[in-house]
Amino acid sequence: MLSFCVAQNRTMASQENTVNTEVKSKPKLVVGIVVDQMRYDYLTRFESKFGEGGFKRMMREGFNCKNNHFNFVPTYTGPGHASIYTGTTPKYHGIIGNNWYDKTTKEMVYCAGDENVEPIGTLDMAGKMSPHRMQTTTFGDENRLFTQMRGKTIGISLKDRGAILPAGHTANAAYWFHGRDEGVWVSSSFYMNELPKWVKDFNTSETAESYLKVWNTLYDISTYTESGSDENTFEGGFRGKEKATFPYDLKVLSKENRGFDILKATPYGNSLTTDFAMTAIKAEALGQDNITDVLTVSFSSTDYVGHNFGVNSKEIEDTYIRLDKDLERFFIYLDETIGKGEYTVFLTADHGAVDVPSYLSSVKIPAGYVDNKDRKEKFNKFLNTTYGTEAIVENISNGQIFLDRAKVKSLGLNLTDVQNAIAMEQLAYKNVSKVYTATTMSTTSFSTGIEELLQNGFNQKRSGDVILVNDSAFISYGKTGSTHGSGLNYDTHVPLLFFGKGIAKGETYEKTIIPDIAPTISALLGISFPNGASGQPLGFVID
Ligand SMILES: [Zn+2]
Repeated sequence: MLSFCVAQNRTMASQENTVNTEVKSKPKLVVGIVVDQMRYDYLTRFESKFGEGGFKRMMREGFNCKNNHFNFVPTYTGPGHASIYTGTTPKYHGIIGNNWYDKTTKEMVYCAGDENVEPIGTLDMAGKMSPHRMQTTTFGDENRLFTQMRGKTIGISLKDRGAILPAGHTANAAYWFHGRDEGVWVSSSFYMNELPKWVKDFNTSETAESYLKVWNTLYDISTYTESGSDENTFEGGFRGKEKATFPYDLKVLSKENRGFDILKATPYGNSLTTDFAMTAIKAEALGQDNITDVLTVSFSSTDYVGHNFGVNSKEIEDTYIRLDKDLERFFIYLDETIGKGEYTVFLTADHGAVDVPSYLSSVKIPAGYVDNKDRKEKFNKFLNTTYGTEAIVENISNGQIFLDRAKVKSLGLNLTDVQNAIAMEQLAYKNVSKVYTATTMSTTSFSTGIEELLQNGFNQKRSGDVILVNDSAFISYGKTGSTHGSGLNYDTHVPLLFFGKGIAKGETYEKTIIPDIAPTISALLGISFPNGASGQPLGFVID
């Protein structure tokens, strides 16, 4: 043993003479891109339609993790963004939904809502936002600490939660889009007392107005062979237009569709986000020195389009073709302002989405819609017969049942017994496929299957008493458009691409999980992992 150590030391010592002592320089800017509701198969399904400078550039020049998944439920925007940037799951970061029932205040809360801050740039409630409900740090936070607050962090997204949660607690700014009749980028007093001049200038530049134009397919619609027919019964569409078919006159339709908010559900929302991100890079001088800055950009329009038209629509295909073009011009801009090979980009999604269940049914795949009314009637009857009151249940949301624990106690009941009885009752209901109790989640350690995903999404302080899982491809949603939230592959399997400074070239089918992203970026930067990170750095991605 001793001789081995000596030999090893000798080898190391002799190597030292030849090792390059130069410290590896870091990327000047890390850009985290989240494409809201992007399924993994969009990369492959639309590949023949993509140009060379967007998605394909990332795949060609960088690293493609082809088997990347969310490792928790629910797969929603708030928990998704928080997990990407904190490197952990709702169990630790506490963002258990977009909205959830707060057990202490007994009311629904919003993941980014904050009554203690003021809107900046609008008088609307849309500005009362901060990351205060997220309980752990992001890699951006750790970079701020590491650089003595010299490295900047800025978060940008049409959605407030898509800007705020990624940017973290120490961000210089987060900006999101306020539509209606204003069409402006706004922030909150959590970050600043006044919008910077460049944001005010952007808001008065009429860039948003310029996108209130006709939305038609970028290429001849007959070439869009990767999606269903333009006219079908599985799509929502806009108010004021009978059919969900191209073209859409957005200027005209905006009047009946909440003004500027209509842009969110079109590819132009992503273009506007790109314009704003590029302006931010220039105005804030991001990536202009050797101290790493962090820019988080979340493209939200893909989610709105998916919810409205469904994952198999012509509208989705066109939205991705156009996003690819936006990515191309964004990367060219980064090359020009920061320098080729001087910045690092990753791209992923906050969740996938299910094919429209009514469409799946039409092709004989088991799918459908949960009858919540029927479930509620049966459940109330059960509660009244068993406990003499419905008041034992306080709230049902995000597939979880919250009990009134004081009421359970006052009735002289045992909490675990009540949880178990409710679980057995719910399991008998139509399209409920699995049920677990909070007690099970807290006392059993799961390492595989849906149980593991539920446990990673389960937060003892914030989650409910009974957790329900629906049958595959059964959703609580309207009969048109797609949604998400489950632990099934259509919701968990999302792209993960890295490219730029410090990134190896390659691809893998080895399974990676969303919480691996933040530790990977931390490793690349040589900084501390986010304080609650549970993922592992993907060593094969780093060059
Ligand atoms: Zn969504």
